[in-house]
Amino acid sequence: MSAADPLRFVSSRGAAPPLALGAALRQGLASDGGLYVPERWPQLHAEDFAGGASLPEVGARLLEPFAAGDALAAALPEILREAFNFPAPRVELGAQGRLAVLELFHGPTAAFKDFGARFLAACFTRLRAPQEAPLTILVATSGDTGAAVAAAFHRRPGIEVVVLFPKGRVSPTQERQLTCWGENVRAFAVRGSFDECQRLVKEAFLDAELRAGRTFSSANSINLGRLLPQSVYYAATSLEIYGRYGAPASFIVPSGNLGNVLACLWARRVGLPIRRVILAHNANRAVPDYLASGTWQPRSSVATLASAMDVGNPSNMERLQALYPDLDALRAAVRAQTVSDEEIRERIRRGYAQYGQIWCPHTATAAEVYERLSPAERTSEHWVLVATAHPAKFPEIVAPLIGRVPEPPPSLARLFARPTHCREIAADLAALRAALEETG
Ligand SMILES: *Cc1c(COP(=O)(O)O)cnc(C)c1O
Repeated sequence: MSAADPLRFVSSRGAAPPLALGAALRQGLASDGGLYVPERWPQLHAEDFAGGASLPEVGARLLEPFAAGDALAAALPEILREAFNFPAPRVELGAQGRLAVLELFHGPTAAFKDFGARFLAACFTRLRAPQEAPLTILVATSGDTGAAVAAAFHRRPGIEVVVLFPKGRVSPTQERQLTCWGENVRAFAVRGSFDECQRLVKEAFLDAELRAGRTFSSANSINLGRLLPQSVYYAATSLEIYGRYGAPASFIVPSGNLGNVLACLWARRVGLPIRRVILAHNANRAVPDYLASGTWQPRSSVATLASAMDVGNPSNMERLQALYPDLDALRAAVRAQTVSDEEIRERIRRGYAQYGQIWCPHTATAAEVYERLSPAERTSEHWVLVATAHPAKFPEIVAPLIGRVPEPPPSLARLFARPTHCREIAADLAALRAALEETG
């Protein structure tokens, strides 16, 4: 690859023009309704990362080939320093690094989605020309995405954020984090499921009437700019384990819309030392069932304790299938398991008793899947449980199980103190159009 040969991103449905990184970020969803994926995979080696172990340093090296030839390329190191200004510590729970928790909840809204949202906001700020019409970021959320996106874009000039969440399907604490912003951030409570919120966003993007008056972009995990930066913490963690133990890392990833686990699989594809990847799902078991049966059957989502994973029809399935078009290859590449609410509760109780760890309901699914591994599997790998959110985001669930209220980190405590605003709408495009026309 030469500088004259930039890497472009193609639609998972193959019928949209390929775009360079910046354009693909702005476009969000490809014009054929598909999702952007890299047209080819750069190959990197652990040695390529020598001399820089921080998240921004690893990120600059990892993402450089994806930005090659694009206007964002030169700003990438600065974007990463701005976006990744909090750590992703790996906390070891087992001897010889055989079991660790990767804490992805040290950002402003205490969930892993801060990484992608902040990266995207840093990119959008640089992509937008000062005289351009305001940009509307439309985001459907099952809980944490909306909060992370709102926090990342709050008060950014020329950018408006509209958050759609399923009314009554997010925890009271999450709802507070979605509705506490104001100014350039509006929250709509949709009378429907997360899948319906997601469908509304897709419809709005393709709706000529709405597009006529404004420039839309997405900040969902369908946006490449959310997904790509998430590869950075997998890269950094696997390099750290490789450096210390001379062995690859294996990850168990709490999964819903599959954005987080795709980032892990992309990191593995470009050559990072990652071995096994297991998807931990809640009772929304479309993916585990697909791997078992070979038939893809999207469903309506069911409500569970791990509500940010309540996705019956994950849109990133298209990216997973683009990565592994062949079912046997997919089965060799990943495993997937389903975890019930009762098992989540029990795992939170035991995690506290056994390790002194307080796990959020999402993280508990990964811990449960780990406990199901055979003793031989447990000791043959360097397992990393991906902790996707801070337990203090879910006090209603966690406190009764462990007998104490998890202490919110300071950033979360500040959010909890803000006043809230929100508007309720029906789950149809006409209602969304009407609500968008209202200002403020
Ligand atoms: C969004 C989210 C998930 C699921 O991640 P996907 O990328 O949608 O698979 C898991 N846990 C938490 C806390 C989340 O916010």
